[in-house]
Amino acid sequence: MAINTGGMDVAVIGGGVIGLTSAIVLAEDGHRVRVVSRDAAGATTSAVAGGLCWPYRIRPYERAVAWSVRSFHVLTALARRPEETGARMVTGTMTDATGGGRDTHPGDRSDDGLAAWYAAVPGLRRASGQELPEGHAAGWRARTPLVDMPAHLRYLERRLTAAGGGVERREITSLTAVGRTADVVVNCSGLGARELVPDPDVHPVQGQLVIVENPGIEEWYVSADTGSADTTYVLPQPYGVVLGGTARENAWSREPGPAVAEAIVARCARRFPELAGARIREHKVGLRPARPAVRLAVERLPDGTPCVHNYGHGGAGVTVSWGCADEVLRSVRALREGDGPRGH
Ligand SMILES: Cc1cc2nc3c(=O)[nH]c(=O)nc-3n(C[C@H](O)[C@H](O)[C@H](O)COP(=O)(O)OP(=O)(O)OC[C@H]3O[C@@H](n4cnc5c(N)ncnc54)[C@H](O)[C@@H]3O)c2cc1C
Repeated sequence: MAINTGGMDVAVIGGGVIGLTSAIVLAEDGHRVRVVSRDAAGATTSAVAGGLCWPYRIRPYERAVAWSVRSFHVLTALARRPEETGARMVTGTMTDATGGGRDTHPGDRSDDGLAAWYAAVPGLRRASGQELPEGHAAGWRARTPLVDMPAHLRYLERRLTAAGGGVERREITSLTAVGRTADVVVNCSGLGARELVPDPDVHPVQGQLVIVENPGIEEWYVSADTGSADTTYVLPQPYGVVLGGTARENAWSREPGPAVAEAIVARCARRFPELAGARIREHKVGLRPARPAVRLAVERLPDGTPCVHNYGHGGAGVTVSWGCADEVLRSVRALREGDGPRGH
């Protein structure tokens, strides 16, 4: 084991957006960090994500909003270099198909749990009647980061390497075994935590997307009906327009369904008729690592090695990634100051 110069030896399990951002902030803080990931970054759920920075299908709201606000600022800064980082600032409309929030205003604490988010996003405002599609009584207009995830994951890996960290491709079957070779384990295994921890509260929420050639759409659009499995979203990315989406609880298949894809395109084309004839480039399916509440907390493994769990980010892992990474960093600093690393 390397001579300790104040930094700790940290093993991060998981090379999706949660693991890589956690690893980066730790490596940039002077820790010796290695990421262990079963899958290549491009084969993770993170690579499938539409990449909109907005808290969605994630609990608990209060912590999720604080993490989202922190990420908003980090991603806004990264969006100054879109070619390099994959992040861009894009204007869009978020509507509520249920009509909920009709009587509330951004910043009003009585609405859907996201009031602190509405208050924190610069320039976010209530959409006017003309800006809302038919049948929608409420919505918001905002300029938010929209992240090209395959490009962003490549950027995160490069940034980790530049900070002295590295990624190993290997499946882990025991956190305790990993803990024997590290001062701290950071568990960012997403849906893998179900088996690895094991934590039966982690379960998949399957989402299907259709990527089409862009017929000229420049803004993002989401009709967020969190009460329904079928949401409508249209996210213009450099690699095509991402059309979504679905949210099927406990569905494990990664096979796109043709009828589901047709329904997605039809829903999106009701909002943007030009999408009806757009050429389809790709079908994607991802499994959101859902949990009743994100688990971001320190636990001692059976031999006493600290493990910072950071998993269960549901439909908003990109949105909260940098905020969660900062909380992991605070936990690791507290461990260093409290206990100091154990000798091995
Ligand atoms: C269709 C869809 C659209 C989405 N759109 C958005 C969006 O617009 N905005 C947003 O914020 N979020 C979105 N999400 C949610 C987002 O994708 C997830 O919340 C996020 O990717 C979770 O990141 P993660 O790093 O925890 O998990 P993952 O990306 O799944 O990474 C988990 C990592 O752990 C590794 N791993 C697991 N088990 C083991 C093991 N035993 N040993 C070694 N390694 C292991 C895996 O190999 C992988 O590297 C979307 C999700 C889907 C499915």
